[in-house]
Amino acid sequence: MPGLVEVAPLPPVPLHDLLTYEVPLALRDGVQPGVRVRIPLGRQVRTGVVTAFAAEPPVYDTRPILEVLDADPFLTPEMLDLARWAARYYLTPLADVLAVVVPTHLPAAPHERVARLTRRLDAAELATLERRAPAQARAYHALVAAGGELATADAPSAGVRPAAMRALVTSGLVEVVARERALIAAPEASPTTPPPLSAAQRAAVAAIVGALDAEGHASFLLHGVTGSGKTEVFLAAAEHALARGRGALLLVPEIALTHQLLDRVRGRLGNTVAVLHSGLGPRERWAEWRRIRSGEARAVVGARSALFAPVERLGLVVVDEEHDAAYKQEDGFRYNARDLAVVRARLGKGVVVLASATPSAESYHAALDGRHTLLELPERPTPQPLPPVTLVDLRGRPRGAGPRLLTDELRSALESNLACGGQTLVFLNRRGYATYLQCPACGNALECPHCSVTLTWHRGARAVACHHCQYRRAAPSTCPSCAGQALEPYGVGTEQIEATLRACYPLANVDRLDRDAARRAGAQRRILRDWLAGDTDILVGTQMVGKGHDVPGVTLVAVLLADLSLNLPDFRAAERTLQLLVQVAGRAGRGDAPGTVCVQTFRPDHPSLVAAAAHDFTGFMRDELERRRVLGYPPFSRLVNLRLDGLDVAQLDAQAQRLASTLRAQAGSLGLGAGAVLGPAAPPIERLRGRHRRQILLRHADVRSLRALARHARAEESALRRARVRLAIDVDPYSML
Ligand code: ADP
Ligand code: ZN
Repeated sequence: MPGLVEVAPLPPVPLHDLLTYEVPLALRDGVQPGVRVRIPLGRQVRTGVVTAFAAEPPVYDTRPILEVLDADPFLTPEMLDLARWAARYYLTPLADVLAVVVPTHLPAAPHERVARLTRRLDAAELATLERRAPAQARAYHALVAAGGELATADAPSAGVRPAAMRALVTSGLVEVVARERALIAAPEASPTTPPPLSAAQRAAVAAIVGALDAEGHASFLLHGVTGSGKTEVFLAAAEHALARGRGALLLVPEIALTHQLLDRVRGRLGNTVAVLHSGLGPRERWAEWRRIRSGEARAVVGARSALFAPVERLGLVVVDEEHDAAYKQEDGFRYNARDLAVVRARLGKGVVVLASATPSAESYHAALDGRHTLLELPERPTPQPLPPVTLVDLRGRPRGAGPRLLTDELRSALESNLACGGQTLVFLNRRGYATYLQCPACGNALECPHCSVTLTWHRGARAVACHHCQYRRAAPSTCPSCAGQALEPYGVGTEQIEATLRACYPLANVDRLDRDAARRAGAQRRILRDWLAGDTDILVGTQMVGKGHDVPGVTLVAVLLADLSLNLPDFRAAERTLQLLVQVAGRAGRGDAPGTVCVQTFRPDHPSLVAAAAHDFTGFMRDELERRRVLGYPPFSRLVNLRLDGLDVAQLDAQAQRLASTLRAQAGSLGLGAGAVLGPAAPPIERLRGRHRRQILLRHADVRSLRALARHARAEESALRRARVRLAIDVDPYSML
């Protein structure tokens, strides 16, 4: 019906997807699928995207559209198709998908409003605030953590509630001022010429270029060891796509860590490169989006959500480090950008290249099955081969002074590397000074009041903090439950390792890169710049240091405790551990000098460690796939995780049980067998941000039956809501926590 359209309101309305509106005669010429419009909603006026003409009038009285915002469709038919595909596959309302696809609005003024602390509270005042107004205390901590100033637009993502902020303003502790918005200037990169490619690189480029020339859909898995020149391969492919008049999209797990790559891409492809990532403010994001939409930028580099960049005639999509969990969105519209990249390329008849030194089991299996063409780069083209990896067995060591993780073997490797002037990367995937504080008298360990986890001690900040919510408080000097003894620290984090290494090697430049160190504006760039320039002798860090950097001076990589990721209750634990170890180890020996790697573990016989030491990804994956096949885990089955949460645990349990038995009955009538519905069970973190959690896992080899089953769960959503239980459907889940 031409007079009626379906509109996805932005932001979406819970439990509604699309709403039907009337198009007044005066606006009929301007309205078509893909344009943005202003619509009345209750007593508000909102923006929305027209998704289609309505097939039939709805049961409710329709209201008219107020205004059309775009002369040309804001979303192309291809993007709408992709969004619809994603909504169906991920069982997510189309409006929720479009909320991720469409960038936030252009802000009206070039100024942004900033909330600024007028003074700091002393300990007594802070304690009072924490007791009387915890939300305000959280807002206060967020402001302190942000260096005393926070753009009001960024406040919600920092966990600050608007009401709490208003209350702080009223009390005079915070003032709101206007500040000139910082624009990220696109640095002019100097043009670079590629090195002469190796035979393996040339073969890979030829395969991709051949597929681009054929103008049809093709998909590749580019498996090359760390430093094998994968980037050179996909840059050459992107040049070819652009030369043929097609667009190119390059996805990376995390832009903030990838300045180096950005420079390389700009150097090769020039001004036609646009960059999209979550660190951009609404204005920059919008400016980049417009450059892409207008065709001025035809190559896009970006993180996860850049998958939805409006590149026209998209010829090539590259997903770098395709195994990385950062491609999986873990709230709201829970999509995997790697998987949607393959879909986007297929819908648009383009070529997709998934690249990694450690491909995911899913992608590797697909390549062995012939669904992706496998391209391999087995060697580094640079002077040094892959570094030798030594395993250090941590078992049965007496407890001496200082952290046990700084073993004699590690110290002597570190000292000889320092003596040669080499840089050392020390990797420990755990932030803070100590993992938890415990009272030796009563045994009480400090826990987060909102989550079922212990609080991490951040000694430098004199605070304990929850790594799952915003909770933070001053570190108590005595046990709060028996008020008797001083608390004792357990479990070593990066902060403690950094402090110990500084004390042991006072002449060395020791630095640290993790989310705490990177919190202050500009700190991350500074840390990485010093590291790249060779000024840092020892860099201690979490997985932030494991990714992507190409630092020629690194000749020693030390993994302090490889077992951390191995002990997670997740069927992907072995795969993840191998990926992490190979990636971190791959930072060594990338320059002219050879590198070595030292990996400490309590489980030197574990397949992930054996394979990491032997650089045997292929052998590991062969065994791992066999194990997954026997146990019926992905990629040999598909999973849908139904995540339920609620404030009342009895209510939650009752609803979870009811949902599980409904689904078991449905599974029976669909003929799916008894094993298709598992649970309900409590996830490892039973309570998060004050809400109890349960999960029901749906598992089956046939994805269509599985989604049919999950649709039944979706249909139960309003009944669950009435019982104050929330449901999130996670299709192809990546995290089981
Ligand atoms: P990857 O993406 O596989 O980690 P890169 O493309 O970043 O590898 O290459 C690693 C290093 O090797 C870079 O410094 C790059 O400039 C260099 N390199 C890549 N290909 C060649 C080549 N054919 N000859 C010489 N150096 C190369
Ligand atoms: Zn918490």
